[in-house]
Amino acid sequence: MSVDRPLIAVYPGSFDPVTRGHEDIARRSLRIADELVIGVAHSATQRKSGLFEIEERVAMLREVFAADERIRVVSFEGLLVDFCRAQGASVVVRGLRAVSDFEYELQMAQMNQELLGDFETAFFVPDVQYSFLSASLVREVAKLGGDVSAFVSEPVLGRLRARFQR
Ligand code: ADP
Repeated sequence: MSVDRPLIAVYPGSFDPVTRGHEDIARRSLRIADELVIGVAHSATQRKSGLFEIEERVAMLREVFAADERIRVVSFEGLLVDFCRAQGASVVVRGLRAVSDFEYELQMAQMNQELLGDFETAFFVPDVQYSFLSASLVREVAKLGGDVSAFVSEPVLGRLRARFQR
């Protein structure tokens, strides 16, 4: 790492929607990176069907991180390594919750290493209160009318309420 070049990291994910767990990982990564680009991935081949449109996910992330000028939010399509190159990023940030995340994350990190030689993945561990939290769980609970205010920030809460109001 050169001393005069900022360390730019990319945090990719679906963020459907952004949770306090994602927020925790993003903020932790800024203890190491100078700038963080949050990349909202969309692909035609995605297995999971989404709740929010990509533009809405980006809008929520921008609202959540509005006060943090070191964080930018953009969407991307295609290979992560191409996105990283375009952003001038040398590090990818991922979160590790439980052992269940490990195998998939390891596979992805090693595949990306193959695709781009100077590519590093940095894993961050969330605060224990978020280690069971996932966007899919938030979607499920909100859909069933449960209170998710402990798990997502205000801009997300408002949109979830609007979406599932009966
Ligand atoms: P999710 O798995 O919640 O749908 P994403 O697909 O957007 O979230 O995941 C993006 C990255 O964020 C992954 O590395 C995932 O492990 C991580 N992540 C998601 N939720 C948390 C959390 N509560 N704590 C730590 N990392 C998380």
